Amino acid sequence: MNTENTRVEDFYAPETFKRIKELADTKETPFVVIDIATIETAFDTLKELFPYASVYYAVKANPAPEVLTCLRDRGSNFDVASIYELDKLLSLGVEPERCSYGNTIKKARDIRYFYEKGVRMYATDSEADVRNIAKAAPGSRIYVRILTEGSGTADWPLSRKFGCQSDMAMDILVLARDLGLEPYGVSFHVGSQQRDIGAWDAAIGKVKVIFERLKEEDNITLKMVNLGGGFPANYINKANTLDVYADEITRFIEEDFGDDFPEIILEPGRSLISNSGILVSEVVLISRKSHTSLQRWVFTDVGKFSGLIETLDECIKYPIYVEKQGELEEVVIAGPTCDSADIMYEHYKYGLPLNLAIGDRMYWISTGAYTTSYSSIEFNGFPPLKSYFV
Ligand SMILES: *Cc1c(COP(=O)(O)O)cnc(C)c1O
Repeated sequence: MNTENTRVEDFYAPETFKRIKELADTKETPFVVIDIATIETAFDTLKELFPYASVYYAVKANPAPEVLTCLRDRGSNFDVASIYELDKLLSLGVEPERCSYGNTIKKARDIRYFYEKGVRMYATDSEADVRNIAKAAPGSRIYVRILTEGSGTADWPLSRKFGCQSDMAMDILVLARDLGLEPYGVSFHVGSQQRDIGAWDAAIGKVKVIFERLKEEDNITLKMVNLGGGFPANYINKANTLDVYADEITRFIEEDFGDDFPEIILEPGRSLISNSGILVSEVVLISRKSHTSLQRWVFTDVGKFSGLIETLDECIKYPIYVEKQGELEEVVIAGPTCDSADIMYEHYKYGLPLNLAIGDRMYWISTGAYTTSYSSIEFNGFPPLKSYFV
């Protein structure tokens, strides 16, 4: 159990929290407040730490127009997963050259749609998909996603479903060339909120082998390495800061590629957006399951189905701030719906103040990413999670 009250100043500059709270105080819960200035700073910091990289923001993390226009104006590119995300970006004036189709699972007619709109860079991890791309998006750039290890140290793994083994990746790139596409590079995603930086070392090593073998055996010169997302946000489980990630990853690339430093793409979602958001909820009910139970249940008006799906298996542990301070007691934290799966934290022991009462507000820290976009439409009639922007 956490033995001290969560201190908001460990996560936000006082003026940032003041800005967020001023707006929050005028709204009815539940909702997320996104601080756009925090996203701007996160983007600028990323560019400083990886000056050689192009950033393709993973739109799924938070597809709000306010977020997308902020990143558009800062020069970001976009990793797009569906025709709907693409339409949204184009309607906001993002040029198709700044978009890549990063989903390896796609319909032939959706590939055609991207191509007709002007997108010329596609991810793939299978022969069937690359054949579809060759037909529907002739001449386009292709990068192949490879499988990586390290899911054990990522809080939200993304590895098993996507990617293929290196030998298959090479076959796909050769096939891409034979079908008139441009074999452009290799991508991977080491898992979201990856706390082991060594996961990039292993993955970059695999990419290096693919670059060399294709050059020697097939006369194909690849140009680009896509390092994926996986960079950290601030949650209860500590991760290194982004500058440590940048130093280490830059060194891994230099060690493997030497003077042939490849083009580098980053696809951050969580690390760019999470810290900008605070989800505000209200305590609906506090109860005990028996007269002698040592544990209180705190039910709040947000849950697994209204934005907190990443608490599945208690993967992501958001710091929770409440205004009342004082002695802490172990609690189970659950959502408002009529589904027993709607329990956020039960095994991990959260301590919340004993004097916490019905009607008090809870501030869920670092909830800018993967909350609103995951929120259900009307389970039990509850509307989707709202967001406000400062
Ligand atoms: C979700 C996703 C990302 C973003 O990952 P984060 O860990 O949130 O940074 C990047 N690339 C691809 C292909 C993704 O699916």
